[in-house]
Amino acid sequence: MEILARTVQATRSYGPVIALDGVSLDVPAGQLLGLLGPNGAGKTTLLQLFAGLRRPTSGTVELFGGDPRDAARRRRLGCTPQETGLPPTLRVHEIVEFVAGHFDHPVPTGELLEQFGLTGLERRQSGGLSGGQKRRLAVAVAFAGRPDLVLLDEPTTGLDVEARHALWDAVRRYHQEGGTVVLTSHYLEEVEALAERVVVIDQGRVRADGTIAEVRSLVPARRVRLRAPDLPDLAGVERSSREGERYELWTADSDSLVRQLVTTGTPFHDLEVATASLEEAFLALTSQSNQTVASVVQEMV
Ligand code: ATP
Repeated sequence: MEILARTVQATRSYGPVIALDGVSLDVPAGQLLGLLGPNGAGKTTLLQLFAGLRRPTSGTVELFGGDPRDAARRRRLGCTPQETGLPPTLRVHEIVEFVAGHFDHPVPTGELLEQFGLTGLERRQSGGLSGGQKRRLAVAVAFAGRPDLVLLDEPTTGLDVEARHALWDAVRRYHQEGGTVVLTSHYLEEVEALAERVVVIDQGRVRADGTIAEVRSLVPARRVRLRAPDLPDLAGVERSSREGERYELWTADSDSLVRQLVTTGTPFHDLEVATASLEEAFLALTSQSNQTVASVVQEMV
């Protein structure tokens, strides 16, 4: 399968700060990849390397099999950075047409605006758009040139739920038609809803790389909450915390845990068993204090 973007042992430093530390990542054609990581993890830096906006301090970066700074390659790429400054006096259709003018077969303006819920705003100056409308326009122009690969840095930040879902639909449509997407997001729900593959980045390094189910499987699958005056030693508890009588236990096998509670005659109440969400998995993966997970992840990387 064609690899549209690739880093091999890419490191990027800003003075003493190591933003990316030996990252090797392939983005195959047709994939929808979500980059997850806390603030400052290195996600934006990685997208900037792919887009040819920055060079790695060491290691290599390829876009469409060659140098990302090559103009012909970048014409196959669509990007929405985290912050965009749209010229406030230009009208919406002028901004779209300006971007579209750089490409041979752009999406017609009306069609693009319709896909991103901006129909009717063609003649509005961008300075007069709401924050959410500006964001949608900034994301829409990434798709204007019918790119083969789209890089979206926190595309839905600042959008309300409805606008976010409309934008997801547009991204999904593009992907269903064969497009490739790399997006960063702080909304775990977004990554769960959209991405086929999740790459968790923390402190400039890839901590996990797999399907959502695989990333989830790296952490204890069940969270058990209960109230009890005290608990005996219970087998299979991988992590626990206690606040007064409230316990939170993490385990791969909640059935066995509950059986142990019953057979040991432990007085407990308010029992609650839940499946770990990706958010919880993600927090555990990026938590420096969680030795169990850290060692599992290190084996994986
Ligand atoms: P966020 O989720 O907050 O956008 P991020 O994962 O995108 O974060 P980056 O923006 O790539 O992270 O930053 C990674 C690290 O590099 C951070 O410590 C950041 O402060 C640092 N950094 C990024 N750009 C620069 C720069 N131009 N000069 C100095 N340090 C920088």
